[in-house]
Amino acid sequence: MNIVLFGPPGAGKGTQADILKRDLGLAHLSTGDMLRAAVAAETELGLQAKAIMEEGKLVPDEVITGVVADRIDAPDCANGFILDGFPRTLPQAEALDTMLAEKGKRLHAVVEVRVPDEVLISRIEKRAAETGGERADDNAETLKRRLAVYHEQTAPVLPYYESRGVLHVIDGDRPVEEVTAAIKAALR
Ligand code: AMP
Repeated sequence: MNIVLFGPPGAGKGTQADILKRDLGLAHLSTGDMLRAAVAAETELGLQAKAIMEEGKLVPDEVITGVVADRIDAPDCANGFILDGFPRTLPQAEALDTMLAEKGKRLHAVVEVRVPDEVLISRIEKRAAETGGERADDNAETLKRRLAVYHEQTAPVLPYYESRGVLHVIDGDRPVEEVTAAIKAALR
């Protein structure tokens, strides 16, 4: 099963993806994690992405699409994967469809974890306090910029999936276990 976990920054996609990876044996493909690893390793990709990420903007579609296309070919994706943080724009969604078709795969479900902006802002303030600002993009000011990018560039992808009949909307403003149960029910 190949699924996309969709939702704004701080909605808990990463937490849910880790649980689904464990329970369903799927690979967890977080483009944010891949980019942060590239930044840490100071690869060409990392050098290109660093400043963009710190500003809360999106790295170019063709760059991130290439990263995902390579990653999907890895053996751990054979059983299925969870995309977390991708696609984030309409061109990325279209590129995903194309690359999956080329590889003889398809998307089984897109799960939107829906959380209101004001809840996300209070969550990120708590997370930043707990981690001592470990992530350079983890502060309320950057989050507001990232939320604006989400509403402008990422949310418009939802109708694309809705029209294909693969979209499931989950209320993400509740305890982690309840969100997990709702996602699993949607996937059944
Ligand atoms: P995330 O951990 O998914 O919130 O991603 C952290 C940052 O990485 C984002 O704010 C973007 O700058 C960048 N990023 C992650 N995924 C993508 C993507 N699919 N397209 C463009 N930029 C991305």
